[in-house]
Amino acid sequence: MEQGPEAVAAFLDRESRQVWARHRITGEPVFIAPGTAAEVRRTARAEWTCLVPECEELISTRGGSKRDHFFHVTAVEHPGSSKGANHLASKAMLARWAAQEASSDAVVVEGQSIKNVELELNRRPDVLVTWPTGQRLALEVEYKHFPAELWAAKQTDLDREEVTVTWLVGHTRVQLDPKFASAVRVPALGRTLAAADRHVLVINPVTRQIGTLAGDRRFTTRLKWESTAWLRVDELDACVLDPDRGLVTPTMRRIDAAIKGAARAAAGEAADERAIEEALEEEENRRRAAWLTSRARRLVHRVWGNSPRLLIDPSDNDWAIEAIPVYWHTVLYEALIYNRLGRDFALDDCWTALRVASIT
Ligand SMILES: [Zn+2]
Repeated sequence: MEQGPEAVAAFLDRESRQVWARHRITGEPVFIAPGTAAEVRRTARAEWTCLVPECEELISTRGGSKRDHFFHVTAVEHPGSSKGANHLASKAMLARWAAQEASSDAVVVEGQSIKNVELELNRRPDVLVTWPTGQRLALEVEYKHFPAELWAAKQTDLDREEVTVTWLVGHTRVQLDPKFASAVRVPALGRTLAAADRHVLVINPVTRQIGTLAGDRRFTTRLKWESTAWLRVDELDACVLDPDRGLVTPTMRRIDAAIKGAARAAAGEAADERAIEEALEEEENRRRAAWLTSRARRLVHRVWGNSPRLLIDPSDNDWAIEAIPVYWHTVLYEALIYNRLGRDFALDDCWTALRVASIT
């Protein structure tokens, strides 16, 4: 289904009100859906808290003309910025989603350290999923500038620990590209991921959506080196948690299917061309064999010891005759010219001579 540019614009909106909170006791993330401020207000005040670690201030809800959201009942100074808030909200959203998606015996942890004393590793994936088999998957959200060298170092560490990673670029790092509809300027981390042959995904915790970047407007190729990309938005709930591939969006599947289809078509074309070349070569060999075993060749070789240049040279026009030139030239020479000097012959005599020699 095609998506209009308004879906992309809504996804890149900088709405900064808090729409995620957490249960005070269980720690489970909660989302405030549009239009539900009044409905959840009492529960929010009694049981929920804001996502900032260690913030104990009371929260409530507000709705009306603005996006329904949470707010602190008293003024609170949080460390960090809206980048930090988006990051916390994304982590909470992904943890809740992963817990729903992963099988019930998988363990989902937010902000887990992976410690490996030997390698002196201390990396903290934003969300870490561990399956009963021991297989691990990290979901990493980047709202801050994340230089390619830092990315490579973190990726290398996670590779060494055999942890699969899905990287998600924060939506505020992506801007519309005014040159084309639904197009965006590729953020720095996006270029890094594309260069590493990965899909480039964008997260928005307010709309609960995941964007996928493609190298073309029809979403048939992965982003490679371009500075402009096309963005398609999927609901997080339509995405799949794959132990081997991480977070898989419907758009990723669409792009991968298109790439596979194009590869199959190219392989098919190459096979067709090879078959044609082989058939042509086979036909050429057959025609050469027909000449080598022919009566006409035995005659000229008896007379001249080899085939004269005059008979070998191809004519400008092949007359659609199914024999190599030296063969049919020799057949005509033998039938119409040899020992017949001074006699006339017509074009029809040529066709008859070729027919007698079984040349089509
Ligand atoms: Zn707070």
